[in-house]
Amino acid sequence: MDPRSRIPGLDRLLQDGAATPFLARFPRPRVVEALRRALDQARAGVVDGAWEHDPADPGPYWHVAAHELEAEAVPSLRPVLNATGVVLHTNLGRAPLAPEAVHAMQAVSPGYSTLEFDLESGRRGSRYDHCAGLLAELTGAEDAVVVNNCAAALVLVLNATAAGRGVVVSRGELVEIGGGFRIPDMLERAGTRMVEVGSTNRTRTADYEQGLRAGPVGAPPAAVLKVHRSNFRVSGFTEEAPVAELVAVCRAAGVPLIHDVGSGLLVDPAELELPPEPRASTSMAAGVDVAVFSGDKLLGGPQAGLIVGRAEIVAAVRDNPLCRALRVDKATLAALEATLRLYRDPATVRRRVPVLRMLTEEPTALEARARTLAEGLTAAATAHEAVAVRTEGRVGGGTYPEVAIPGWGVRIETKDVGRLAAALRSGTPAVVARVEDDGLIVDVRTIPPEADGTLCDALLSALEYRP
Ligand SMILES: *Cc1c(COP(=O)(O)O)cnc(C)c1O
Repeated sequence: MDPRSRIPGLDRLLQDGAATPFLARFPRPRVVEALRRALDQARAGVVDGAWEHDPADPGPYWHVAAHELEAEAVPSLRPVLNATGVVLHTNLGRAPLAPEAVHAMQAVSPGYSTLEFDLESGRRGSRYDHCAGLLAELTGAEDAVVVNNCAAALVLVLNATAAGRGVVVSRGELVEIGGGFRIPDMLERAGTRMVEVGSTNRTRTADYEQGLRAGPVGAPPAAVLKVHRSNFRVSGFTEEAPVAELVAVCRAAGVPLIHDVGSGLLVDPAELELPPEPRASTSMAAGVDVAVFSGDKLLGGPQAGLIVGRAEIVAAVRDNPLCRALRVDKATLAALEATLRLYRDPATVRRRVPVLRMLTEEPTALEARARTLAEGLTAAATAHEAVAVRTEGRVGGGTYPEVAIPGWGVRIETKDVGRLAAALRSGTPAVVARVEDDGLIVDVRTIPPEADGTLCDALLSALEYRP
């Protein structure tokens, strides 16, 4: 008798009691599809011997189908434990949000909100109003507008202030920020003409003055752009025009000075024991007309591009048709507003914004956590060597390129460190660690302290010592 005749039909399997938990967890069409594939596999396998089970037994069909259903149920975008010590890891989603920001997103997401509605008058409101007051307060600007990211903010400001005109920019600041974000391309896409001044290593105030006189008769440049070289350092024979002098030059020429400050740091970097870094507030105090920065770098909020500056420029930005194309959604605005509110209390903001907390974590606290983790691993997994070690973390996100942040972590020695790293990445939760000189380094700075136990379990499981 053909063994294939003993294979049950699809309908019979679906009516079986074993189907119930699957149909409760997965969409029926997916269950049918997965079962169909299992049956096909059996039909081919019973003939050539690859299907080693009793073809009448329904168990193996469900087993094969479950494997496929589980695999496809894993979300593509899912949480990761960042054990790299890089605080603003762009590939891992940059800034983790404060609980306040998460609650705010949860509050406005499932229902309706005041996104574009003014409850007082009962009339239409503007989504651009939501964070504007807080941003103005925190940076000293007259007004503000929020868009999708800093790249969008820059294109928009350039387009709103200088479309069809020239923009003066230093040759030393024609940089690539990452992910294909190049200043010359942005200037072009914004519909402006780049007026390069100075040289790669030195650009003086007089170069800008000269640049502002360049261009076709009757159509001098319409703006000056200053870009923070956030992701690399120039040293040696260098010179950069001070912002205060550029302000004076721009005022005299009657054109706006646009400052891309990049990271969105809202506190004094000295408080974070970091070297000086341009900030929107210092730009505003110096008289810069408009500054742009990211929401998800050192500000520690959601992905967003923040534009702050003089009221008439912000109004022109808001009225620009591109602004509509680059606008943010209610969840982003909710998270940003909640994050910005934390900055109103300078005494607590460092503990409440996760990015700032991670950067200022006490070394003794990090050391204690690393030692506990190393002990937990050594106690359970004696075949591997796990020791607490000093580490060098990074701010990341293209900021502070050469600044190492001394921290603590665990170094694990094993025969095949690549395999261990891969096992960690494929676990639940996935863990991303660093491989250094044939050892795996797990930096605790970027792990939330409450996840230390989960991290230990994930490491033991990857080392094949299941807890
Ligand atoms: C990071 C950065 C940007 C781009 O910011 P996104 O929010 O990622 O678009 C632009 N300019 C500078 C100086 C930066 O550091």
